[in-house]
Amino acid sequence: MFPVQTVLNCPACGAPLWIESLTCESCAQPVLFDPATKRSLPLDAPGFDACVSRARGCNWGVPTHGRHRECYACRLTRTRPDPSDTVAMGKLAVTEVSKRRLLIGLADLGLPITPFWFEKGGLAFDLLASTRDSPVTIGHASGVITIDLTESLDDHRERLRINLGEPYRTMLGHFRHEVGHYYQWKLVEQPGGAMLDECRALFGDERSSYSDALQRHYRNGAPAGWEQAHISSYATMHPWEDFAETFAHYQHILLTLAITATGGLVMKQGRQPALAADVVPRTDYSDVPMSVALADWHWISHLLNRANHAMGKGDLYPFTIPGPVAEKLSFVHRVVVASRVAEPFVGLAQDAG
Ligand SMILES: [Zn+2]
Ligand SMILES: [Zn+2]
Repeated sequence: MFPVQTVLNCPACGAPLWIESLTCESCAQPVLFDPATKRSLPLDAPGFDACVSRARGCNWGVPTHGRHRECYACRLTRTRPDPSDTVAMGKLAVTEVSKRRLLIGLADLGLPITPFWFEKGGLAFDLLASTRDSPVTIGHASGVITIDLTESLDDHRERLRINLGEPYRTMLGHFRHEVGHYYQWKLVEQPGGAMLDECRALFGDERSSYSDALQRHYRNGAPAGWEQAHISSYATMHPWEDFAETFAHYQHILLTLAITATGGLVMKQGRQPALAADVVPRTDYSDVPMSVALADWHWISHLLNRANHAMGKGDLYPFTIPGPVAEKLSFVHRVVVASRVAEPFVGLAQDAG
């Protein structure tokens, strides 16, 4: 059995919880998240303790008789600011919320999360705050994802978004992009990778010079007509960036569709003259081609965009998906489905004993 979309409900009253809830907003029941079952439990559930980082907002639990007092998600953060740096630690708490959302989304997709303590080149996070003297560059190398905590400041991130001409820039988006680099490296580029040739045919040869590509991109910008084959202008920079951008959108699309599915949203044919049939989003598209998810997303994203407009906001999903991008998303879908595991939090069971 593969997991479906994580939907958290209060163990006391059944009210819906947020991914980051520490207590139920309806009945004030303190709760913790159990990654093994992907469910919310009472904070005092037998056999569970709160993560030592709960005071910093972490709502995950650890087994009482396990070997760690810090939860699985927090332990994936290999490097964090010095606790005496209270300003940076405030940014860390906000950033860790996005990281936990990333992890739960990956687990919902069935992707193996293999930590750095479990295998060489396993997943790790260095979460560091830029200073004037030492800027932090967001990126991925050999399993390690580096994030600049300064991006958690809304005014800073929004200024960058406008200056770079990006329609969307969020901390969760950074995580979903960087983890795309990790999975391309782990699932596609490993020696003997069965899908490597196909990946190169779709995204380009990742062995081309990255530093040349970087210089070219920031000197000339994206080539004219880029939107006909890329999801974003940044995706034109280098084949690696194209894959990572596409991989991030794969998560955005499937996990947002799953949210609407768990809420029971259905678009009825009779309400929309252009609809050929009811649109019924799913929590899981692993047994159908990506074109099915994209057909649903076409309508669901349009509806969600209009809901945003009704509140005076811009598009929820400010992107269009041309044919070549749909092909790239289909490739990512096949990579993910071929890599799915029943227990995505690799090594979690060992923590218990
Ligand atoms: Zn409750
Ligand atoms: Zn934790």
